[in-house]
Amino acid sequence: MPFFVLCKSENTLQKAPIEYVEGELAKFAPVELDVDLSLISENDKNVLAKLVDASRLIDELFLNQVDAENGKMLQSLQASASTENSAYLELFKVMFGPWNRLEHDKPFLGERNKPLGAGFYPPDMTKEEFERAKTENPDLAEAFESEFTVIRRQGGKLVPVPYHQAYSSYVTKISALLKEAAEITDDASLEKYLSLRADAFLTDDYFDSDMAWMDLAGDLEIVIGPYEVYEDNLYNYKAAYEAFLCTVDHEESQKLDKVSAYLNEMEGNLPIPDEYKNFNRGLSSPIKVVNEVFAAGDTKSGIQTTAFNLPNDERVREAKGSKKVMLKNIARAKFEKCWIPIVNTVLADKPLQNVSFDSYFTHVLMHEMSHGLGPGNIVLKDGSKTTVVKELKELYSTIEECKADVLGIYNMKFLMDKGVFDKGQEYSMYSSYLGGMLRSIRFGINEAHGGGVAIQWNYYFEKGAFYVDGSGKLTFDENKIFPAVTSLARELLLIEARGDYDGANNFIQRYRQMTPEMKDAVEKLEHVPTDIRPIFPVVDRL
Ligand code: ZN
Repeated sequence: MPFFVLCKSENTLQKAPIEYVEGELAKFAPVELDVDLSLISENDKNVLAKLVDASRLIDELFLNQVDAENGKMLQSLQASASTENSAYLELFKVMFGPWNRLEHDKPFLGERNKPLGAGFYPPDMTKEEFERAKTENPDLAEAFESEFTVIRRQGGKLVPVPYHQAYSSYVTKISALLKEAAEITDDASLEKYLSLRADAFLTDDYFDSDMAWMDLAGDLEIVIGPYEVYEDNLYNYKAAYEAFLCTVDHEESQKLDKVSAYLNEMEGNLPIPDEYKNFNRGLSSPIKVVNEVFAAGDTKSGIQTTAFNLPNDERVREAKGSKKVMLKNIARAKFEKCWIPIVNTVLADKPLQNVSFDSYFTHVLMHEMSHGLGPGNIVLKDGSKTTVVKELKELYSTIEECKADVLGIYNMKFLMDKGVFDKGQEYSMYSSYLGGMLRSIRFGINEAHGGGVAIQWNYYFEKGAFYVDGSGKLTFDENKIFPAVTSLARELLLIEARGDYDGANNFIQRYRQMTPEMKDAVEKLEHVPTDIRPIFPVVDRL
């Protein structure tokens, strides 16, 4: 029986047990996201208010992209208000649909499995049917694969429908709100972006507005449109709508500017022979630190984003590079709700007393900066020119993420010695570094970040730099930690400089292990929330 027939009456809908739903909900700690608006002009506050309205439409639009039945189901959940239903409704809102994103989209309302292609294709469409339609209509092949079309069945045939037609009732309203916002702002760079983006919503040509986004220079950092393609698990073709409304954190941006002035010195200080150093990489990916006022759509479903790198359009990347945006208040919320409970459980007293958000966040920033240091384009022994990415293949991301973590600490220490950062924070830096590792390991060591962290953890244990003390808690040896950081940095940088695939493979095999100490620590963390559920009280102050 088709699902929507069951759905007509809320009471006949198959539901997962309430204990399960409440347990899943508890994995997302609710948190009120705060943002200081004192430096934001009255006009920009009005701009934000308009954009919040537009973003609420993005929420509805994305819900519809996930599945065409979602809107009805949401209404029916809202209509039948009861204490028990409120948990189902709340989880539905977190997941943007009746499927649990933390458990491979297992349904918690109804029995229907989530279509692989979400709502972008007819739910019963097979890959064969899609491929056949493309072959039969070669002139439409590009439209079938476009990021900005949905596939519909009309008269028994598959046809690509552009987003601005398929979602016309939403995008015309969103476009109008963006135009209104563009008229209000005094910030010329934002005005340009918003008006170009307003047009793009009506044409699905995002190029000019993506270019304008790279030049945003005021107090607001706004992203709104269809971007990532991960919601389409069938082909990864179709882009999901999302929005980030943020204010720029000028204090952190100044810190980054100060650090940028030392990039060449940091490259020179890398613990490898000079011949492997790379002084002309430039900063192709500027970093901006912001605070989130409101988020909507794709990015708000399931796990919250702490950093993103956009745009995805390669033509824009070639012309202007890309921009890395880091969401500081989201990072702080995760630190308080998901990170502090971890260190409370596993760290020994002294490092525990010294962890701090500042050390943690500065390391995150230095991690990002460190991606831009060290070998990129390389020359092999036989004289051939290549890149680290090409040579290390599928092992690249694990080695590179590990390198960025380790160099993050190595460079923080360097900048402390130079007087750029407070040298008094060195103990806090190592404490926060050790404490943060379990958060990544908890999510699995086969993914690049978790794998990279497992390598660091085991390397430092082998060197005696990290150890379990008499009380069974984790701590570090002040005399051994920096030499271990330095030698690990050297190992990773040499693997990259030589494009040494076999070396990378051996290194990963040896160190990316789930050890008994790790397992033991992870098992103690079951009660800790997986992520946060942001509430946006700032919206009421606009
Ligand atoms: Zn990274």
